[in-house]
Amino acid sequence: MVKRIFLSLFLLTTVFYLPAQSDITYKADNWRGSSHYKLIRSYNPFLARVRALAGKQVKVAKAGSVTYDKYTYTILSLSYTPPKPVKKRVLLVGGAHGDEPAGPEAILAFFRYVKKNPKKYADIAIDAIPMMNPWGWTHSKRYTGDGYDMNRDFVLFVTKEAQIVRDITRDKKYDLAIDHHEASQSGAFIYTYTDGDEIFAEDLINTLRKNGYAIATSGNSRFRWGLFDGVVRIPAFSGGSFFRNRSTIARYFNEGEGTRSYTMETSVYKKFNNRIDCHFFVMEYMIGEL
Ligand SMILES: [Zn+2]
Repeated sequence: MVKRIFLSLFLLTTVFYLPAQSDITYKADNWRGSSHYKLIRSYNPFLARVRALAGKQVKVAKAGSVTYDKYTYTILSLSYTPPKPVKKRVLLVGGAHGDEPAGPEAILAFFRYVKKNPKKYADIAIDAIPMMNPWGWTHSKRYTGDGYDMNRDFVLFVTKEAQIVRDITRDKKYDLAIDHHEASQSGAFIYTYTDGDEIFAEDLINTLRKNGYAIATSGNSRFRWGLFDGVVRIPAFSGGSFFRNRSTIARYFNEGEGTRSYTMETSVYKKFNNRIDCHFFVMEYMIGEL
């Protein structure tokens, strides 16, 4: 009898306490807490460089903030308003993974370029969140200070970082969204999320190669969907259990009607400036193709 009561209690506890946690599979194993990890980059100079982009056509705003160990990190957004009526809208995001630093730098470089060339972008509005995970970047960690991979958090939105990106883009309709990442591969590559979009991706890869950028031709076994000549194809129907409770940022924006959305990756084995240039090239190319 006593045994049976214990068994019932055990089962009840299991039923009530397990589900919410067990679905979150994108938290780092053995996460030791944000205070355990060493600060390797200071955030204020980066913020100052973002703020310095403000001008007639570029607005810098606070998208939100995250706090870890009593330190509050402001997350800034950039919005470029073109001189003529807006025909297309673009979203550029970077820094989801703090140990992939080329994306945030490239977005700042691209905004400096756009600011100087408003005629080239006369009817294209560009929004950006160059640093989505500042704790990760300052500590050179993939994860947020709570140990989550924010680039899997676009279904459940447990991280404040993902909530900020969702909230600031909520009412916008983008024609193009690019999320900038880096990976331990031999060269650059791109994820596509729509059937048929790989043609566009292949053109981009060919153009990158012609311009001297190394391309990752085959991925290692970490690639669930396979990497072939610079393109990872994630078809629209894919995912099943994998995407049930998690989604990448680019896949989330791809679900918006009419948004072409990509995850762009450069190789961490290349020189930093080459990686920044590569991300910059992709932004210029893709926006040019709109
Ligand atoms: Zn990444």
